[in-house]
Amino acid sequence: MHLKSLTVKGFKSFASATTLRLEPGITCVVGPNGSGKSNVVDAIAWVLGEQGAKALRGGKMEDVIFAGTAGRAPLGRAEVTLTIDNGDGALPIDYTEVSITRRMFRSGESEYEINGSSCRLLDIQELLSDSGIGREMHIIVGQGRLDAMLHAKPEDRRAFIEEAAGVLKHRKRKEKAIRK
Ligand code: ATP
Ligand code: MG
Repeated sequence: MHLKSLTVKGFKSFASATTLRLEPGITCVVGPNGSGKSNVVDAIAWVLGEQGAKALRGGKMEDVIFAGTAGRAPLGRAEVTLTIDNGDGALPIDYTEVSITRRMFRSGESEYEINGSSCRLLDIQELLSDSGIGREMHIIVGQGRLDAMLHAKPEDRRAFIEEAAGVLKHRKRKEKAIRK
């Protein structure tokens, strides 16, 4: 399983539809300051369901929609599609390629799709829950996160490791069951 492509349209600085093809292995995004490198990473977090404006480096959720430039009018919606190669069947779905789409309008509502069929964010979270990809997983490690990990208390650091090993969700389930 690997990320195959990312298409952004009306998301932050990407006014026109732009597709990045991702090959297996390491992908580097290079470019001058302010050219949109971090916006690419924000797009991945957003399509996976990120709900926090701050995590997306904005003040409010609407800030992800292309706000216009001197020569180009603002847009009414943002759309991102992340396509995952599922050739090895790592995702529990009968498709060798899985596309996840999120669309948001200025009214604030988001729509989600799996392979073009509308779904709930919960469906996407469930589909990805055992894959190591997800909004709350550490697939995106920002500069601050790296610092947090290095300076974490031992028990917090254990949570990072448990999450990477896939045990954290079982611990959470157990704690929830005990509380009931
Ligand atoms: P650096 O090398 O400094 O980290 P970067 O390549 O990561 O730069 P980004 O932070 O991805 O750059 O992009 C910042 C640019 O995105 C800014 O020019 C900002 O105006 C633009 N931008 C952010 N949100 C929007 C939006 N909603 N509409 C239009 N442009 C936006
Ligand atoms: Mg940046």
